[in-house]
Amino acid sequence: MTTRKQPEKSGLAAVVKKGWEAVNAERQKQDALIAIRKEKSAPRFWLKEGEEAEIMFLDQDPCMVWEHKIELNGRWETLICTREFQHCPICEAFPRHKPGLTAYLSIIDTRSYVDRQGTQVKFSKKLFPMKAAMQGIVYDILKEQKSLKYLLCRVKRYSAKSASGGDYLAPIRRIKDPLKVVKSADLLVPFDYEKVFQPLTSEELTAMGIFSAPILGSEDAEEVLGEVKDASSIFDE
Ligand SMILES: [Zn+2]
Repeated sequence: MTTRKQPEKSGLAAVVKKGWEAVNAERQKQDALIAIRKEKSAPRFWLKEGEEAEIMFLDQDPCMVWEHKIELNGRWETLICTREFQHCPICEAFPRHKPGLTAYLSIIDTRSYVDRQGTQVKFSKKLFPMKAAMQGIVYDILKEQKSLKYLLCRVKRYSAKSASGGDYLAPIRRIKDPLKVVKSADLLVPFDYEKVFQPLTSEELTAMGIFSAPILGSEDAEEVLGEVKDASSIFDE
């Protein structure tokens, strides 16, 4: 008879090795996801309840997209829905979650903040989300002002129930020489919408924990996603 190895020792060693491999793989996956998110997204403007801000428009031809807002690994992700032109794995994985239509323009948010390096950032370029009501407000301002470009406006969000982009917008004045104010020509270039609204590939969605139809049936998808979310939150620190 062949002698068997001590199952406990080899079993434990295998588990430890496998455990660290899993931890490292998870960390690499998270780093890769951050890179994907950076490349295929742009910061979206939003306000807290009762907050207001001054924003300057960079363009005036909105880009409209269907998108899903879902919570993954404890943070809200906005993901492009592709169901208008091809199978959408997010619709498949979240059958009860209907995508919403949002129009976007590029803006400069004038609220300053301190970045991770401790530097104060005065201006930041963001996507300004417009749901139906805000679309009407912005369109009226465009008709009245003839152009939105470099128009400085005050935007406010009155209640927690209103759209995160705000429910009030009023023009202040047009900035004649915006480069003198923001001091960066790059900041004044509107977003390349085809780039920032590019849908994630099925590999990228799978890496984020959203499985496409061939891997999971829609019935089980949300339940399994819940497990993924719980498991990865262990490695979030
Ligand atoms: Zn979808």
